[in-house]
Amino acid sequence: MLHDRVIRPDVLAMTPYHVPDARGLLKLDAMENPYTLPLALREELARRLSALELNRYPGPAHAELRQAVARAFGIPAEAEVLLGNGSDELIAIMTLATAREDATVLAPTPSFVMYQISALLAGSRFVGVPLRADFSLDLPATLAAIEAHDPALVYLAYPNNPTGNCFEDDAIERIIAASRGLVVIDEAYQPFAQQTWMGRLAEFPNLVVMRTVSKLGLAGIRIGYMAAEPSLIEQFDKVRPPYNISVLNEAAALFAIEHLELFNGQAEHIRAGRAALVQALESMPGVQPFPSRANFVLIRVADAPRSMQALRARGVLVKDVSRMHRLLSGCLRVTVGTPEENRIFLEALAASV
Ligand SMILES: *Cc1c(COP(=O)(O)O)cnc(C)c1O
Repeated sequence: MLHDRVIRPDVLAMTPYHVPDARGLLKLDAMENPYTLPLALREELARRLSALELNRYPGPAHAELRQAVARAFGIPAEAEVLLGNGSDELIAIMTLATAREDATVLAPTPSFVMYQISALLAGSRFVGVPLRADFSLDLPATLAAIEAHDPALVYLAYPNNPTGNCFEDDAIERIIAASRGLVVIDEAYQPFAQQTWMGRLAEFPNLVVMRTVSKLGLAGIRIGYMAAEPSLIEQFDKVRPPYNISVLNEAAALFAIEHLELFNGQAEHIRAGRAALVQALESMPGVQPFPSRANFVLIRVADAPRSMQALRARGVLVKDVSRMHRLLSGCLRVTVGTPEENRIFLEALAASV
């Protein structure tokens, strides 16, 4: 077969990142914001987009959007910003740029799968350090792994996906201090955790803070940003494809930043919905919810694959993470929806465990 001859063996052996068909289902599998924009704003956005010159390449380094991001999201003056086509692309850029011979990428497990996938694709070794049973960092094991492998990159999702918790700040400080490489704090869920390392960038030259607008309500436009010391960003920028943000994405992101209070209001609703959802789950027999700082809740049930299928049969799509890691046995991950969606989910779950 042609592909057997030309494709790398490790790529041949990979299983593809599965995006399920959600048509007709209540979509609670991918941490999307359930709210949309008011019609008047969508029409204004359409006018804005229709005025763009689609025959032209995006401008140099997306300077306007970088400045708007820096202002809107509190990037410290000492730091520089790099934009990615989603933070997935920023992960790929950082991994590729640091993939020297024998380079290691380290992350706690279970965590966001793209850290490992991008390491494998870049030819770096991936070292996963298991979390403790309560999903906190195993600090001695993490420090020992840093000592043993001297990782170029350590990824810490804050809050962590799929467990939903924020790791302890003093443990993170110890990890940053012990690392000769970079420590990337992935704040994809910052609007729901309302806790950040962004303000501490100047304290730690090896700290990178990465965020995305995906979970805030703009998953479709694919914009992520990272902030770090300018000389680091300068190097990562060489690995970035020169026109990685389309003019449509850029204009939509600028528009969204102008209306940030709307998205922040939606995040506030989602945080309130999360509290109500967790409370309802706590009183449901056969269900153990874990505390969450994100816009999803991890729950443990007796038989996760069976409950996931039963939910799907009732029109609700959640994510079965039970086979991702031994610590996640019996676990499903569910996105916080609107109050009405949460009610539908709870009803379906009660009939599915
Ligand atoms: C969803 C998620 C991302 C990916 O964000 P995009 O900007 O949509 O690529 C990054 N990190 C974590 C921890 C996530 O859960």
